[in-house]
Amino acid sequence: VELLKEKIRLEGKVLSDMVLKVDSFINHQVDPVLVMEIGKAFAKAFEDEHITKVLTIESSGIQFAMGTALALGVPFVYAKKKKAITQSSDLYSASVESFTRNETYQITLSKQFLTPNDRVLIVDDFLATGAALVGLIGMIRESGAALAGAGIVIEKSFQEGRKLIEDAGVRICSLARIASMSPGEIHFIEELKTSSVK
Ligand code: 5GP
Repeated sequence: VELLKEKIRLEGKVLSDMVLKVDSFINHQVDPVLVMEIGKAFAKAFEDEHITKVLTIESSGIQFAMGTALALGVPFVYAKKKKAITQSSDLYSASVESFTRNETYQITLSKQFLTPNDRVLIVDDFLATGAALVGLIGMIRESGAALAGAGIVIEKSFQEGRKLIEDAGVRICSLARIASMSPGEIHFIEELKTSSVK
């Protein structure tokens, strides 16, 4: 998805060696054209996997799960960070340490929405430490559903998440892989060329 890398180059702001701000098109204001392109790219990457459900975690994964689910013609479901009183008590849960917020929170998912008959594709906006994905993978394993893989919009390949998830035997498709970054520049993995950013 060339548009994604273009947007990262033009609008991404590297706040530190570890944190990329993309809130003008990914996770605060959202570019719906980009979301749909990303959804189609994930649907194509996993087209032979007979996916029955897309799984993400609120809140920034939701739009990408929606785009992917629409392209695949299946439902998507998102793990919640706060338990609602309307939620059933029959839940999968996992604790996740947040990379950007520096806190640990409990994610939950009603058991009725993930069953052993499902083939699941996880979708998320970022892969950093892998903590969010580990939480989701735990829920899938507990449910008895099959895990087809994970579609990641932006992977910070210099953090430990990719290796952790691959070592768990999960196939990853990342649309933008950042090898390294520092304020003013971003190096993507495929091309290994420096891009100027604000
Ligand atoms: P992980 O669990 O892999 O450490 O991080 C997952 C979540 O942290 C992502 O879904 C994303 O919301 C957030 N995150 C991680 N790194 C970044 C970053 O560099 N920028 C932004 N905006 N969010 C990030």
